[in-house]
Formats: sequence, structure tokens, C-alpha cells
Amino acid sequence: MENENKLKELVAPLLWWYDENRRILPWREEPTPYRVWISEIMLQQTRVEAGKGYFERFVKELPDVEALANVEDQQLMKLWEGLGYYNRARNLKKAAGIVMEKHSGRMPDTVQGLLELPGIGSYTAGAVASIAYGLPAPAVDGNVLRVLARIESDERDILSAAVKKDREKKLLQIMPEKRPGDFNQALMELGALVCLPNGEPLCEKCPVQSLCRGYLNGTAAKLPVKKAKKARIAEEKTMLLLCCKHRLALQKRPDKGLLRGLMELPSLPGHLTAQEVESLFMQQGEEPDSVKELGEAKHIFSHVEWRMQGIFVALNREYKSLEFLGERPFFWVSEQELAHQVALPTAFKYYLDCFLSEEKKP
Ligand code: SF4
Repeated sequence: MENENKLKELVAPLLWWYDENRRILPWREEPTPYRVWISEIMLQQTRVEAGKGYFERFVKELPDVEALANVEDQQLMKLWEGLGYYNRARNLKKAAGIVMEKHSGRMPDTVQGLLELPGIGSYTAGAVASIAYGLPAPAVDGNVLRVLARIESDERDILSAAVKKDREKKLLQIMPEKRPGDFNQALMELGALVCLPNGEPLCEKCPVQSLCRGYLNGTAAKLPVKKAKKARIAEEKTMLLLCCKHRLALQKRPDKGLLRGLMELPSLPGHLTAQEVESLFMQQGEEPDSVKELGEAKHIFSHVEWRMQGIFVALNREYKSLEFLGERPFFWVSEQELAHQVALPTAFKYYLDCFLSEEKKP
């Protein structure tokens, strides 16, 4: 009970601070359920500043649930290009289809109804319910977990599901009836602007300093506790830029696993030199016009890290497939198509730039 009362004391100063300091963001100015939903999914792994442009472009081209339900996959992937986690975009479309079919195009207006849609977990359901519908539902993300761990000087692991559940339960008890959406956003905003991650909270600017045990006890900078995750697996790969007269060969990834169903550069396991790649062509009786190394690049996914080496190969014809690349068919695309139509995941960005930019071209 004491805890609940303490937490309740946060509400008024946080709302006051939020009114004075909140950032003007495109989804905040017109918080319809659709816009809040899109923004929350988009911002799960993207910084707010970077997300603004993506959001504006997305809702301009797909202004409502119906447009999203009917979008071509290729256009959807292009709109999502650069954000990563393509499954999220696929789930958006899937959920939009369900909203059209089962809810006549209107987003469900209960937490339970929202949770039944693909890709919507307790955080997103809480955000849409509270911000767009004014329901008293908590929205607990990493920012909120960090802020609360410091305020309560709580050393429990914030990556644990039980801790998150406990936070949701306690916040639900203190949600202000009148402004639940603003309260949730105030907590997130405090985490984004003041109670910063990596041991750098700006306590002297904080509206709840006098209520914060982490500040008063001097433990804030060491919180929150996050138990180390399993180390990522490192994979070495050689990315091939197979080019023929300004067209580039792409392959489609398998329908399961990482980046499933998306386009990719053909690749080989391990780090190969230009000579080794050339000899693979020679063994098949093919002779490339030129073969050059493009340098190294790295891309980090949640569980895997790709350590890449790039090789540029100029060819004199557009092969349908190549045996040493698993006979998977090639899709030959122009620079124009790559710039406007075909989405290539960010993991390949470094090498795509080598193909598109005049300065980096080998
Ligand atoms: Fe975070 Fe410091 Fe504010 Fe506590 S006083 S909530 S540690 S910024």
C-alpha cells in the first residue's frame, strides 16, 4: 500500500512537466488509433527523430486501416525499408486485414480486443487504448521500466517478464482517470529526455527528483539492472555484387527464419578473396569481366551478427542462377528499381551504396 501511495504521488508532477516539455511529434498531434498503432510499432526499434520521416511517409501513402490491409507487399516493404524487423510490417498488414474483416475497419477499443491482433503486445495495446481511446491502461516499455526501477531503487532484472507484469499491475492501480494517455506518454518522455539510459540520468532537471529513491540513495546511475543476454552468434559471409550492365542480381530469402521472404544479395559462407570468387566462376567455365574486393561491413540482428566481406563481380550476361549459389534464381534489378521499388534490408546497405553511389563504385 505504501508503494502504491508513493507511486500515486508521481502523477501530478509528471503531468505538469509533460505539459511544459513534451515534444511535438506527428502522431501526438492527431492521435487516432491507427496513427498511434503505426507509430508505436515503428518506434519499437527506431529513435523518435529518425522515426518521424518514416511515419509521415507511411501514413501519407497508407492513411487508414483499409489502405494498409490492401497494400501490395512490395510497397509495404519499400515503406518499411531501413526500419528492420520486417515481420512487424507483415503483422501490421495482417492485423489490418483482421480489423477490416472482423471490426468493419475500426480498431478494437479494448485492451483485450487489441491484444488479439497479430504483432500487438501489452505495451502497444496499452499505448493505443490509453492514448487514442482514453482508457486507463498502462504502457510499459524499456523506458518506463528504467524510470520506475530508478524511482523505486529496484534492483530486479528489468528484462524479466515477471517484473514487467508487476509494473503493469502497479501502474494500473494509479492510472489517472482523466489523462491516462498523457500519463503514459509523460513516463516515456521522462525516460527519453531526462532519465536517460546508460547511467546518465539528468536528475537536476527531473520533476520527480524529490520522490526518487534512486536519486536520494545515490543508486540511480547504476540502475536498472539488466541480466546479460546470451551472446550473439557471429556469422562470416561473403556478399556478392553480381552486376551486368548497371543491373544487379538479387535472390529471394527462404520463407522461414531471419529476413524471411525478403530480397538479398547472393552470398557465400566465410570470407572469400576476389581470387577465390573468381575461381568459383572459372570452375563453372565462366569468366567474369572483373572481380574486386569491396571491404568489410557488419550488421547486428538481435541474435546474430553478420561479419561481411563484399566482392564486386562484373559479368557479361545475366545468369538465371549459379550452381555454387545453390541454383536459387536471380532477380536482375536496375538502379531505378532499387531506388524506388525493390526493398533490400538495411543489412545490405553498405554494399548497395557501393552499387548505387558513383563515388563508391569499384
Ligand atoms: Fe531518473 Fe534522476 Fe528523475 Fe530519478 S531523479 S527519475 S533517476 S532523472
